[in-house]
Amino acid sequence: MDGKKTCAACKISKKPCTDSCPIKPFYPDPHEDYDDINEVFSVEHLKDWLKKTTDEQKQNLIEALAWESGIRKQDPISGSFGVYKKICEENLQLKVEQKLSKMKIETLEGKIAAISEEHFNLWVEAEELKKKASSS
Ligand SMILES: [Zn+2]
Repeated sequence: MDGKKTCAACKISKKPCTDSCPIKPFYPDPHEDYDDINEVFSVEHLKDWLKKTTDEQKQNLIEALAWESGIRKQDPISGSFGVYKKICEENLQLKVEQKLSKMKIETLEGKIAAISEEHFNLWVEAEELKKKASSS
């Protein structure tokens, strides 16, 4: 790793960046996602969380914090919870629409069945009339 390169965190804090810098592997250069994480969660929390995660979890942590901080910046009041609530409401609306569609399909199938039965009965009646007409 290039020890002279300064990561996003060290560049902001104007500190020398070393190869042991915990932020460097994820944000070797200034990046908007890092700025969001720093603004919403602070670099101290990010470093603390990185210490508490395994190497396999670190990339997932970074991605989650970038997503959450981006959402929090867009909606400072509701943040990720607002996104969750919106998706729950959309899911509920889709379930209602699905139920209404199912009811409409059942109604149409009932009408089709009634029309088919009526059509069949008329056909039987016509066939009986033809038989009577030909035998008389
Ligand atoms: Zn650094």
